[in-house]
Amino acid sequence: MKINGLLDHARYESISCSCGKEVMDSFPIKECLSCKFKQCWNSVPQKNFKVNEPEMKNDKPTGKTITREVKEITLFRGSKFQDVIGWSY
Ligand SMILES: [Zn+2]
Repeated sequence: MKINGLLDHARYESISCSCGKEVMDSFPIKECLSCKFKQCWNSVPQKNFKVNEPEMKNDKPTGKTITREVKEITLFRGSKFQDVIGWSY
């Protein structure tokens, strides 16, 4: 898996945890940006995965579904904390 947009050190990684838990495993998360941003990062796929997509021919769906392996994603980051707010493939 190739991940575009990786940083050696995102700003949010400098925020210390204020809730006492290093990694929260459930929502809701209150007031702890550190855990919130870590959870966002943890939701980013780190390995190749497969998606089903409609097969297209001349820009029209053929009605068939094809399976494609996703090997590269691009991260979107917030401007303030450089937290991961989403990703696309
Ligand atoms: Zn926390």
